[in-house]
Amino acid sequence: MSTVQRKAFLKKDGFTQHKSNARGNTIIYSRKHSTEKFVRIVVDSGIDKNTNKICGQAKAKLVYINRENHWRVITKEVSSNTISSLVQSQSNSISSVPQCKHCNAKKFTAKSGNVVCANACWTTWGNKKKTQKKKSQKTVEKKSQKTTQKSSQKKSARTYKKKSQKNQSIYLLDVQPGDLVTVEEISPKGGMNDFTGFILGIVVEVNKDNLDTVNVQWSTNKSALPHYSFPTTRLWDPTGPSACATTQHRLKVMSRKVEWVIK
Ligand SMILES: [Zn+2]
Repeated sequence: MSTVQRKAFLKKDGFTQHKSNARGNTIIYSRKHSTEKFVRIVVDSGIDKNTNKICGQAKAKLVYINRENHWRVITKEVSSNTISSLVQSQSNSISSVPQCKHCNAKKFTAKSGNVVCANACWTTWGNKKKTQKKKSQKTVEKKSQKTTQKSSQKKSARTYKKKSQKNQSIYLLDVQPGDLVTVEEISPKGGMNDFTGFILGIVVEVNKDNLDTVNVQWSTNKSALPHYSFPTTRLWDPTGPSACATTQHRLKVMSRKVEWVIK
């Protein structure tokens, strides 16, 4: 297949071109899986973005987009000169991807080599499932001890364990339909900016999905915060991967007193 043929197929099949490729010079495309929610087919076109010439076979893999919006590769990347059959075979390979029996997310092979839930849902199980929590704590403990040994011999495993436990907590704000809400902005260093008086919305619906998404009718925005940054969930992960690098936005209920509780 020529460059034109590859591009034509991808376009016709509903693929969109990625803005960048972190790993190379080829143009990357992806589209939603036709039947699986949160799964995308990612195609490395093998077309050099600078010369627009074919520089290698096309490659395809499936990724699962977890609840923190991270892409987890769930199938082995396969290459071929025929993109159409490649897309078809990757698409079908979803049936052999293991699934988490707790939250139904797909599993992927973590850096540790373990096949784990893409949502890392064990971190949110809380006290109801003590056995599993113990198990996950053990893993964390093991991991942290390893890191501890590597990074600083002085840090005791116990301190580290405490920190890890804290890191695993996801918080829930018991938002209900009818609540008047605004936005709180948390900076990576922990500073908080309260948008009371600038942003106002009313909660229309709370979904009982695994992301606890919330539909808010935003009526006022006198702040500089763009709408796409507004929170869409009643969950808050204070120390999740995204919290370390970026500013987070969470809901705040104004019409009654509601506290954040560990989910
Ligand atoms: Zn899970």
